[in-house]
This record gives sequence, C-alpha cells and structure tokens, in this order.
Amino acid sequence: MARHYRGRFAPSPTGPLHAGSLVAALASWLDTRAQGGRWLVRIEDVDTPRCVPGADQAILSQLAACGLLPDEPVVWQSQRGALYQQALDRLVAAGLAYPCACTRKDIEAALARQDRQRNRHTELVYPGTCREGLQGRPPRAWRLRTSGPVQPADSLVHWDDRRLGRQQQDVAAEVGDFVLKRADGLWAYQLAVVVDDADQGVTDIVRGEDLADNTPRQILLQRALDLPTSRYLHTPLVRAADGEKLSKQHGAPAIDATQPLAALNTAAGVLDLPPQTGPLADALAAWVGHWRERWAMR
Ligand code: GLU
Repeated sequence: MARHYRGRFAPSPTGPLHAGSLVAALASWLDTRAQGGRWLVRIEDVDTPRCVPGADQAILSQLAACGLLPDEPVVWQSQRGALYQQALDRLVAAGLAYPCACTRKDIEAALARQDRQRNRHTELVYPGTCREGLQGRPPRAWRLRTSGPVQPADSLVHWDDRRLGRQQQDVAAEVGDFVLKRADGLWAYQLAVVVDDADQGVTDIVRGEDLADNTPRQILLQRALDLPTSRYLHTPLVRAADGEKLSKQHGAPAIDATQPLAALNTAAGVLDLPPQTGPLADALAAWVGHWRERWAMR
C-alpha cells in the first residue's frame, strides 16, 4: 500500500522568503493538498554561519500571511543533532562512513597529482585519500563511502523526477565520497535532510530545481541507511533580470507579505497556474484544483 502522503517545505533561514523560495513553498503545499496529505515546515539551520537571526520567524510569518500553514509543529534542525549522530554512528558501524583528515589544499594537491578533473561546480570531487585510513593525521570531517568493497549499492543512481523526467548520476565518479559531518563540526545538509525527511515520514519532496543535483547523493544515503526513497518533483527556478538564479546570496528582495495574493500570483505564474483574484482562500483552493489536474498523477 502507498505510504500516506507527507510533504514539506525546508527553508534555510539565511534571509526572508523571496519570489524563488515562495515557488517551492507553494508547489509543495499545493501538491500536499492535492493529494490529501499533511504539510510540514522544517527550518534548516544547521549551517549556522549562514543563518540570519530572526529569518526563521520572518519566513514563518510570511508563509502564514500567504495562507500556507503547517499541519504539525515546525522543527529546527539545530535541535536534532542527536538524530544525525545516530545515523552517522550506524554508517560508521556498517563501514559506510569514514573519518577524513584532508584540507581543501590536500584535496587539490591529490587531484593535481592524479591529473583529474578538479571541479564540479565549486566542489571538488574527493579523490579518496583517507579511504584506507588517516595515516597518522588527525580526523577533520566524516565522509560517505560511495564505492568500493563496502558500498550502499551501485553508486549509479537513477530516479524519475516528476517534472524533469528520468535522471541519473554516478555519485562515486561525479561527486566522490561526500561529507556527512564537516571539519568545523557542523552537520552536512545531505545527512541532515535525509535523516529528517525519513524521521518525519516525508514521502514527497517538492523543491527548487537548483537542488536536483543533490538528489542522487540523498538517494544513496537513504539506501545506506536502509530508508525508503522519496518521490521528487523539482520546480522551475525564478531568474533575476541578469539570468542568474534568484537567491538570498544574490540579494533577492523579500516577498511583500502585505500583498500575499500578488506574491502568490507571481509564484503561481512560474508554476504555470492561472492568476486568481481572491479572496486568498479561494485562490489557493482554485490552484489546488489546477494542480490536481496537472501534477497529482505524475
Ligand atoms: N534548506 C534547503 C534550502 O533552503 C532546501 C532543502 C530541501 O528542500 O531539500 O535551500
């Protein structure tokens, strides 16, 4: 039997909601409502240096102004370290995670020696230096073993994105053994998101397309932890006038929560849903109907 639908919006509190994050929030809320599920909000505040004090409350009140209300109490990742530690302990016990002593400089030097492609976006493909041990160096980070004698499964991950279609990535070749716990002691997004989605019973992940590239790493981690694989739908990105992805780092303006219907109409347009005149509750109900026709079965 299908698991009962549970969706979520998982913003990082690095600033208030902007037009791009509202698209992800609205899409996941609509998908949840269209399928009679429950909608959760989780504040992803593990990367503390990037968090902005008060941004969590700002996001929650912007969502409320837009009529997007969570069905269960909001959770904060900063309070869930014990769960992430348990998951890491399990991976270590299974031989699937190992400590790493490499600095970024060490990784660059090892890649140069191997004459390998150094960059993937801004991340380096980890060359596997510490897979066989630390050679006396102090541990810094923890990594997932993505290939080799003990591995979660084939590192070639396929998934069917409900909007992007069939996707694949060889995580071992394209990303390498990725970080679960960072050298600064903070939990990595990949581990926290997988542990939380499973712990909260999330079945369906609807989020911005900028995150699609993380999906194969997260599926691999789900397998390594023996967790169910989520369904995924990655929504179109909102671009700034210069064609760049709209993001808090690039100074995207906050949505105007005093005009929620206008902000929602803009987000709905990105999702190819027709404009509504209101009131707010009627507009949301109309979009649920459109969403059900277009997306619920995909
Ligand atoms: N916290 C992430 C972000 O705001 C989103 C994580 C997710 O939806 O998986 O970019």
